[in-house]
Amino acid sequence: MLLKLRFLRREIVCQQAVELVTDYLDGALSRADRRRFEAHLAGCPNCTEYLAQMRATIELTGGITADDLTQHMQDEFIELYRQWRADPDGR
Ligand SMILES: [Zn+2]
Repeated sequence: MLLKLRFLRREIVCQQAVELVTDYLDGALSRADRRRFEAHLAGCPNCTEYLAQMRATIELTGGITADDLTQHMQDEFIELYRQWRADPDGR
């Protein structure tokens, strides 16, 4: 019980993962955050896809400006996630 609670507390959710993506790609995460982020990705195809999109964008633009770009992509992602939650058996 206690172990499970501790685990849940340490687990990050999609919104947090999305916020961490740019730092992750910048190598700005602490080791602990990086591990939690990667643990989340391992179980979350949505965030894996989001990370892939961010990587592709960075390759195209040669860099990333955290604010304008991610805001747009976050909105898109959140919308995607909303649809996915609304219809979990959809695919
Ligand atoms: Zn996720």
